[in-house]
Amino acid sequence: MKKAVGLGCFILAIALLLFSNEQVKQVLSEANLIKQDYVIVIDPGHGGEDSGKVSVNNTYEKDINLQIANRLKKYLESSDVKVVMTREEDKMLCDAGSLHKKAEDMRNRCSLINKAKPEFTVSIHQNSYTSGEISGAQVFYHTQSKEGKIIADCIQKHLVSYLDKENKRVAKGNESYYLLKNTENPTVIVECGFLSNKEEADKLETEAYQDRVAWAIHMSVMELLSSGTKKSEQVNVTVQSGLRIYCADRAKM
Ligand SMILES: [Zn+2]
Repeated sequence: MKKAVGLGCFILAIALLLFSNEQVKQVLSEANLIKQDYVIVIDPGHGGEDSGKVSVNNTYEKDINLQIANRLKKYLESSDVKVVMTREEDKMLCDAGSLHKKAEDMRNRCSLINKAKPEFTVSIHQNSYTSGEISGAQVFYHTQSKEGKIIADCIQKHLVSYLDKENKRVAKGNESYYLLKNTENPTVIVECGFLSNKEEADKLETEAYQDRVAWAIHMSVMELLSSGTKKSEQVNVTVQSGLRIYCADRAKM
């Protein structure tokens, strides 16, 4: 401990002598001597006129997304993570009179996310399929984003362990989802379950299960941030790259 304090004072003294305030912050941050301010964007999918999928019980995806997102926000903020939400109300992100509401909504989500410059973005959705048999949470990432894959694998691992150990789904790469293609830092889309499956829809509509989903994602985010290093200076829209982060079981991948 004494050694660490001594080293800290030494680095601080050198930094103060040589650099500006901003540079001092950078030096101390790189030496892990001050807490990094982490920003995570939570994107509750759909909203307003865009209800998303409709469950077998006639509940809307947009509402479940927001309920899980609000719980996740609470958990992350209590762990001192800065959270930016793309929406906190039941609304689309577009002008009321817009002729292309969905397109404008998606554009606005991406520009809000890019402005926030988060470590990464977690977009919350619910799935649906023609067959009611299909179930299980699944996370999607941009196929060309290494960080996206690490984040998605980590969240998938926690969703399986906290929600359903029988869920054999693995995180899946995708190159066509608008949000994945148009955000500068890594984004993952968490499909928390299938609203077309009666058993899963019933669970997803309860506060207790929504809380477990939020907790699982929160645990993943904390694991990723605590083992991470720092934001990369280079941002590339086509190949998402924002943060060097490592999930605990990365070595196994
Ligand atoms: Zn959706």
